[in-house]
This record gives sequence, C-alpha cells and structure tokens, in this order.
Amino acid sequence: MENITRFLSVFENLHEGVYYVDINRQILFWNAGAERITGFTRQEVLNRHCYDNILMHTDDKGTHICIKGCPLHQSMADNEIKTAFVYLQHKSGYRVPVSVRAIPILNQGVVCGAIEVFQIQQELLETMHNVEELKLLALTDQLTVLPNRRYITTFLESKIRENRALGINFGVLFIDIDHFKALNDQHGHTAGDEVLSVLSKTFANVLRASDRIGRWGGEEFLGVCICRDGDTLLKIAEKIRTLAEKTVIPFGDLILHITISIGATMIRENDTLGTLIQRADKLMYKSKANGRNQTTLK
Ligand code: GH3
Ligand code: MG
Ligand code: MG
Repeated sequence: MENITRFLSVFENLHEGVYYVDINRQILFWNAGAERITGFTRQEVLNRHCYDNILMHTDDKGTHICIKGCPLHQSMADNEIKTAFVYLQHKSGYRVPVSVRAIPILNQGVVCGAIEVFQIQQELLETMHNVEELKLLALTDQLTVLPNRRYITTFLESKIRENRALGINFGVLFIDIDHFKALNDQHGHTAGDEVLSVLSKTFANVLRASDRIGRWGGEEFLGVCICRDGDTLLKIAEKIRTLAEKTVIPFGDLILHITISIGATMIRENDTLGTLIQRADKLMYKSKANGRNQTTLK
C-alpha cells in the first residue's frame, strides 16, 4: 500500500483529476486536479467508497453508473483499461462532462486496485487544440487555420452528448460559398484560396468562445453555436452572412467579393450527428435554390 501511495504522489500536481481505489473501491488517493474539477477536497473523499455515489456518475442518458457501469469496477474485473464519457456531479450540484480512463493496478500479477484519470471534456478539446504542433496540425485546416472536419465532428459529438445529458441547446450552420467555381475560373485558384483564407478569419472573429466554425471541406464550413432557440440561431447566421457579404478581399489589383448560403437548424430530440448535418445541408441547398446569399432555418 505504501508503495502505491508513493507511486501515486507523482500524479499529485497533474492538471487532470486522478484518484485511486483499492479492490474494495475505497478511495485512497485524490489529487489536486480531482479537487479542482469536482469541488470535493481530499478530506471529504478519502476512505469513502466510490459507490457511495459522492460524485453521482451518470452516462449521457442520465443513468447512474456508479453501481453497475462503473469504469473502475469494470477495469478491475476485466484487468483492462476502460475509457468512458460520463457526467459527474460537482459539489455545488452542477453536472460536469468528463472523459474517464480507468487503469487496473497489479500487485504481483493480481489486480489490487485501479486508477481513474479524468478530464473535463471541454478542456480536453482545448488542450488538444493548444498543445503540440503535431496535434494542432492534425486538428487544424492548413489553408484556413480553422478547426478541420475531424475537430468539428468531435466538437459536435460532444455537444450532442451535452444536449442529451444537460439539455444545453445548440444549433448547426451549414455554410457554402456561392458560385465559387466561377471565381476560381475567372481569377485562378490562388484567388480562391485567398478568399477562403480571408473569409475564415471573419468567421473566427465573429464567434463567441463557446462556438466553433470549422472547414467541412472545399468551400463548405460547419458552425456549431450554443444558443437557446431558432430565432437566436437565425440572428447569428445572418450576422455571419452579412459580414461575409461585406468582406472586401484585395487580390493584386482586384477587390474580390463573395456571398454565402446558409442552412440553419437547432438540435432535435433523437438527432444523431448524421441527421443533424444532413438537415442543415438540405436547408443550405434551399438557400441556393431560392437565389443564394441567404439563410434558411427550420
Ligand atoms: P454554388 O453556389 O452552387 O455553391 O456553386 P459553387 O461554384 O460554389 O459550387 P461547386 O460545388 O460547383 O464548386 C465548388 C468549387 O470550390 C469547386 C472547387 O474548385 C472549389 N474549391 C474547393 N476547394 C477549394 C480550395 O481549397 N481552393 C480553391 N481555390 N478552390 C476550391
Ligand atoms: Mg459546395
Ligand atoms: Mg459553393
């Protein structure tokens, strides 16, 4: 036991929450990160059992998992690392989305406990976005420096989970540049690239910290905006569309202008990533059919 406590002290100042339970799921280590994320001090938690439900872990459907679906319990039972996305309850009562990794600890080949490492989901994304250049490159579109399709997909998935578990509403904007092929044909591919780059800066600058616009592919962008209802989403979309319309793009002796068409829709019950994006995409095509340079919301 002493060996384990000494070994665990390495994790004391890690940014992530780290705790250790023995085979009876009694909590024997609780680091500073765990205190910060949960609001519970080590005095309040140590020597209690993780199934005492102090943290009230629930899955994304709101089901309590401390008794049956506990990743710590499963990792000890199967002697395997388990990962999960769960919600825990902060001491003040609000729910915190966290990604969890439970790692079984062996003593002479026998499972004697498990470590759980957990991190706020939002922080996970932000750390991913800020840390090493390699990771950054893997999540950022090189031309526009916006989040790429992979990042925006992960972001959207986490917002869908938050919507299910916490009821936080959000909307999706599918954005497509109008007549972009003609612009490329007329002024060349470099001009097209310049338009994508300048327009993306406009997108990045209008967004609030909680929202994201990423490059979906080609001249298509996907926006995810935390907002109450369709009216608010429409206002955000129209702000973006109007700013794009007014963006002046110097290119050599030329001044280039473009417009965009937007499909806007709020998350609905039973939406999946697929149904949500498909609906926004179809609405964007409605904007095209109705004459472009407009938003269609449904
Ligand atoms: P619509 O208003 O119906 O959207 O017409 P459009 O011309 O924008 O649509 P279409 O899908 O026919 O053409 C998209 C064009 O975008 C074709 C492709 O050459 C151009 N494109 C896609 N990615 C890039 C890029 O990275 N750089 C440049 N310069 N052009 C790109
Ligand atoms: Mg397109
Ligand atoms: Mg287009």
